[in-house]
Amino acid sequence: MKKCLVTGGAGFIGSNLVDELIERGDEVIVLDNLSTGKRENVNPKAKFCKVDLRNMDEIRHLFNGVDYVFHEAALARVQPSIEDPITYHDHNVNSVLNVLVAAKDAGVKKVVYAASSSVYGDQEKMPLTEDMPAMPISPYALQKYIGEEYCRLFSYVYKLPTVCLRYFNVFGPNMATEGAYASVVAIFGSQRKNNQPLTIVGDGEQLRTYTFVKDIARANLLAAESDISDGRAINAGQSNEYSVNQIAEMIGGPTINIEPRIEPRRNLCGNALAKELLGWEPRVKLEDWIPEYKKELGIDG
Ligand code: NAD
Repeated sequence: MKKCLVTGGAGFIGSNLVDELIERGDEVIVLDNLSTGKRENVNPKAKFCKVDLRNMDEIRHLFNGVDYVFHEAALARVQPSIEDPITYHDHNVNSVLNVLVAAKDAGVKKVVYAASSSVYGDQEKMPLTEDMPAMPISPYALQKYIGEEYCRLFSYVYKLPTVCLRYFNVFGPNMATEGAYASVVAIFGSQRKNNQPLTIVGDGEQLRTYTFVKDIARANLLAAESDISDGRAINAGQSNEYSVNQIAEMIGGPTINIEPRIEPRRNLCGNALAKELLGWEPRVKLEDWIPEYKKELGIDG
């Protein structure tokens, strides 16, 4: 049995990871300020601490005796970071630094950092592979990249074992269905449920890789127990892609097109390194899960 600390464990990905850790018999502590997360997402078998990671005095002692830290907390969306880069920086960069210092001081065995495919920006070549240079095109993407660099630095300078997993558009249970934090799958699901047209950004031909949240949880467990300890970034995503129009078709119902945004046209994941270093491969495809999701929302056809 390991003692694990999950930041952002009341959020979408963190709560699924907590469930996975509890299921295998680990002791779990969740640190979350509930800014976007929900208390009811947290597994009742986990210890919940409502704290803000920007406040070192509140969090430092909670790392004592912890084996693995999974740093999932962040303000996790691209568009709102463009509106408010200062608040985003405060949460996304200062929290990583505090978590790494607290983990180092407590002698934690490994920190696994939730990184993002957004660090690649708009690359010419596909699939995206870890040898490509980072090219962030939003405050959020740059902040997530700074987090990766902090992990690498802490491994190099302080010998704190770290590893970064770059997620690609995660879907599954507990994903936010409304507001600026919702993903396109959840927005379309909620619009269809409320008999509203699905709002397709631009021409809807932008392509994205979508990855099931339970596959992401499994990647985290493998990363924690792997030999990787130098802060390197590894892609964690499916190796297929869908256009926004295809997703609208899967959800069904009428659509309207809205203003385009600054966003990459494609983000196809190259996941060979995750297979080689972690023995990880995603198992669930978006089209396998959509029927279950529609059933849950009470949507027919
Ligand atoms: P989420 O918003 O559902 O969860 C983030 C959690 O962090 C929330 O519970 C929130 O309350 C908490 N939080 C935020 N700031 C905090 C702070 N200062 N102190 C304490 N808690 C704080 O987001 P998610 O989709 O589950 O994302 C989890 C991680 O994965 C994030 O780091 C995100 O950048 C990364 N990521 C997500 C995706 C995706 O498709 N969802 C893709 C790439 C990377």
